[in-house]
Amino acid sequence: MILVTGGAGYIGSHCALTLLEKGHDIVVFDSLELGHQETINTLKNINSKGKFIDFIKGNLQNYEDINNVFSKHKIDAVVHFAAFSQVGESVKNPQKYYFNNVYGSLNLFRAMLEHDVKKIVFSSTAATYGEPEYTPIDEKHPQNPINPYGSSKLMIERILDDYDKAYGLKSVRLRYFNVAGADSKSRIGEWHEPETHLIPNILKSTFSGGKTFQMFGDDYDTIDGTCVRDYINVENLINAHILALEYLNNGGKTNFFNLGTTDGNSVKQVFTACEEVTQQKIPVELKGRREGDPATLVADNKKAIETLKWIPDKSLKDSVNSAYEWEKVLQDKYY
Ligand code: UDP
Repeated sequence: MILVTGGAGYIGSHCALTLLEKGHDIVVFDSLELGHQETINTLKNINSKGKFIDFIKGNLQNYEDINNVFSKHKIDAVVHFAAFSQVGESVKNPQKYYFNNVYGSLNLFRAMLEHDVKKIVFSSTAATYGEPEYTPIDEKHPQNPINPYGSSKLMIERILDDYDKAYGLKSVRLRYFNVAGADSKSRIGEWHEPETHLIPNILKSTFSGGKTFQMFGDDYDTIDGTCVRDYINVENLINAHILALEYLNNGGKTNFFNLGTTDGNSVKQVFTACEEVTQQKIPVELKGRREGDPATLVADNKKAIETLKWIPDKSLKDSVNSAYEWEKVLQDKYY
């Protein structure tokens, strides 16, 4: 049985879906503060090889909530997504981030140790690196986060190192670059309220009642003045989690990997890809820079490819395509 924390959220639900389709029994733990009950219903209705899915609503900040999950189910490994992840909000309200992300993770690890569960795959982030000193960023790049969100994730990485040394808790930390796209059958996808991410925001502006897309800054030192990011497809990203679980099951040591494509795309390039996929002329309004945005963030992904035998084979266009198909479902079914 695999425990997926945050399994009602964007990335966690794609992991839950893939685990079910691969025949694993899973339990999803989520507070539903940001995740959606509808996503859980979809997961439960999917006709998968997985024999069992249990959903337990709870908050990692309550130790009893998470400890009860381990008392109820025999958990073999944990994939830990549950976290707040908005950089701007973390600057305004760091307490929210340190309590939820750090204290919540400490409770999870305590329950794991209590029940002798010693394997975890953890969602970390490129935000742990801070302002890039060179690009593409490899795993040896110094980790100097520049906001509380990145700091909270780095603290958890450090805690996991210490817990391995002291208690033999083995972890794989996956440092995500920009996650994009949706389930290729459009059953689940990105669903944030409010939405702050680039691709869903561009796509939303093509639907009736959608706001004009706002482009944040065109005076960066990049190919066309807009910020460059590394967009990694969510299905490819989740495959790395499956491989990381296998790696830990095979006795792999505590480790950490970047998940990105090595391909940088500017905001303007993403915008063009969205116009091509939707076959629409999308209205755009140029705004000033958004606070805290580095000009370029691109991953060196060799380590995950070599060690985990990971294959990130989907393009930006693939991600925009699946995101668009999902956005249609979202607009149709849930709005
Ligand atoms: N961006 C934008 N308009 C939006 C949302 C994002 O111009 O409505 C830009 C943002 O400034 C950044 C890039 O798109 O340069 C990616 O932002 P996103 O929030 O998707 O991911 P982040 O890089 O912050 O994790």
